[in-house]
Amino acid sequence: MRDCIFCKIVAGVARAQRVHEDELTVSFMDLFPASRGHLLIVPKRHFSDILGADDASLARVVANSRRIALALKRALAPDGIGVHQLNGAAAGQTVFHYHMHLIPRRMGDPTGFHGRRQASEVELAEVAALIAGALAEIP
Ligand code: AMP
Ligand code: ZN
Repeated sequence: MRDCIFCKIVAGVARAQRVHEDELTVSFMDLFPASRGHLLIVPKRHFSDILGADDASLARVVANSRRIALALKRALAPDGIGVHQLNGAAAGQTVFHYHMHLIPRRMGDPTGFHGRRQASEVELAEVAALIAGALAEIP
């Protein structure tokens, strides 16, 4: 998909702070984080939402959600971790390439999915390195 920003990130032609990659998925920091450590897991194949997804990609996204949630817990010690996925504009979806949000939460934080401020590359790179380091320790 030529005009899809997540396809461009998967292909390496748009920048993102990556945390993990395997043959089916790429995981990278959300540019407008709802909290520090907010990241996205996307399948390499383009489909706009869960309705068009293939089972292998979905299964890998969910398996990686668990492993990366463990890494978030070790790296950032949040009180909770939101694992969310939106389908269609009416549900709040804004990028139409299927993706899973992982959002570390502190008790009492607002629970929205979208941050208002674009994070700097420096802060995203720093937290991405922390999470990737913790992920490397998880079997
Ligand atoms: P959704 O509303 O579920 O479609 O979420 C899309 C998410 O993608 C939002 O949280 C955006 O902040 C995030 N986003 C949009 N463009 C980029 C980008 N170039 N790099 C990283 N995250 C992005
Ligand atoms: Zn795409």
